[in-house]
Amino acid sequence: AQRDKAISTRGASYKIDLPSFDGPMTTRFPPEPSGYLHIGHAKAALLNDYFAHHNGQRGTLICRFDDTNPSKESMEFQDAIVEDLKLLQIYADRTSYSSDYFQEMYEYAVKLIKDGKAFADDSELGQGDTDRINRLPSKRRDLSIEDTLARFEEMKTGSTEGQRWCLRARIAYDSPNGTLRDPVIFRCNLLPHHRTGSTWKIYPTYDFCAPILDALEGVTLALRTNEYRDRNVQYAWMQEALGLRKVPIYDFSRFNLIRTLLSKRKLTKIVDEGMVWGWDDPRMPTIRGIVRRGMTVEALRDFILKQGPSRNVVNLEWGALWSANKKVIDPIGPRHTGISEVNVVRCQISGVDQTFSELKPRHAKNAAVGKKTVWYGRSILVEQDDAQSFEFDEEITLMNWGNAIVRQISKDSTTNLVIAIELELHLEGDVKKTKKKITWLADLEDNLVPVVLYTFDYLITKDKVEKTDELKDLLNPSTFTRTEARADCDVGKLPMGTTLQFDRKGYFKLDAVRSEIEGKLVFFDVPSGKS
Ligand code: ATP
Ligand code: MG
Ligand code: MG
Repeated sequence: AQRDKAISTRGASYKIDLPSFDGPMTTRFPPEPSGYLHIGHAKAALLNDYFAHHNGQRGTLICRFDDTNPSKESMEFQDAIVEDLKLLQIYADRTSYSSDYFQEMYEYAVKLIKDGKAFADDSELGQGDTDRINRLPSKRRDLSIEDTLARFEEMKTGSTEGQRWCLRARIAYDSPNGTLRDPVIFRCNLLPHHRTGSTWKIYPTYDFCAPILDALEGVTLALRTNEYRDRNVQYAWMQEALGLRKVPIYDFSRFNLIRTLLSKRKLTKIVDEGMVWGWDDPRMPTIRGIVRRGMTVEALRDFILKQGPSRNVVNLEWGALWSANKKVIDPIGPRHTGISEVNVVRCQISGVDQTFSELKPRHAKNAAVGKKTVWYGRSILVEQDDAQSFEFDEEITLMNWGNAIVRQISKDSTTNLVIAIELELHLEGDVKKTKKKITWLADLEDNLVPVVLYTFDYLITKDKVEKTDELKDLLNPSTFTRTEARADCDVGKLPMGTTLQFDRKGYFKLDAVRSEIEGKLVFFDVPSGKS
């Protein structure tokens, strides 16, 4: 029976259905070290953490590296996942590795064979799948216990003959549930394993491994995404067949976001083919990527836990997540000025006779953010778009300064670009009465910090990705724009990783990885959630 509970962790309260359970739970998050964690994994990890630790319970969260396939896994990915979990502020009570149980799983396989519940199969590549679809028995289904044991030993040596075989559970080849149609439980693989080297040439499949290890490691509730629901009976079959403790399963829905790939196979391809700068690229849906883009861990955790385990598979909008993030960054992010260098316009101002500076608040509504230096002078820079909008004798407001009247506009007659402007300072004017609040920077060498502003787009062009979609048909040909700009002097002193707001431009994060390109500070746009 499910019980409604409003639970509070870290001061926030979440309404998450928990199965009734006596005492603390043991849960496990089982990442395969075959890529960095993405936002879908974050949901699984956070829910497991929550079930074990909600309400101050001292349950046990196991982080189990599901490392049973040397073709995809590596130490690099294992280390990355450790870091990713830290980044998410998830602290496992215990870390384990499927590979620590290879001997035991081998012995369980032998037991299954001896009990007549498994057979060795050497069907041609693909034939097994065809048989399964057609609900036909494999031609080897009746292979004897002795022959199966011999084949399994042959597989264990990794010989050419052994490699032709796999081991399958003998469940029900004609079951309406495809997962019960004699699933493969052991396969050969000659590649070295990142933890066990070349000790093993055979590896258990996830279907065999998960029910055994959940039972052995004392898991009291196994959380799985409901795409695996068909597998629940198979999972129970394995435990039953091996005489192991039955572990209850709890299904929750996958986390999906529009225009977002959450398949490690596709993400690996994007990284390997150099379509992004790496797993931590700000366009990637990895934890690292999203945080590098400017998502706060606080907003991310809160957003996912607020969604809860819900069983409906939905395609969430990124906007909702970024709006939640905005609530965190807006009140504390310093505000600065950036002026695009593209056709930047120099204005001469009459009524100013010297260069001077003043300290101004870095955040109009939060004094705790401190102060910044604003330089004033006879020559200032404004953006071409603003200059284009000016009319003769128009009164405008220069932000952080006061009003000025546009006295002259010079344009290039061929390009029609504004090339120079003359302003007359008019500080008596009322800043509340002007239509235009203009960003500007004093044109003084010490005042101008060169920066590069990146604005990103989705990596793919399709809202909802299907498993069958080919990556090449999904890719967005243009995923970023890059603008050279000048920022005010204090921007040069910000700590790496600061998220700020450039007045009238939006939120940007000073990247800590590529902090400088050609002497320019690198900023990534942080979406505000408005589409
Ligand atoms: P992929 O299918 O992308 O190759 P995976 O799901 O097999 O990856 P694992 O490392 O095995 O990757 O996943 C670890 C855990 O995270 C599993 O329990 C899995 O169910 C869960 N998980 C993976 N993707 C999502 C998602 N989009 N939403 C929720 N949970 C997910
Ligand atoms: Mg997996
Ligand atoms: Mg998956």
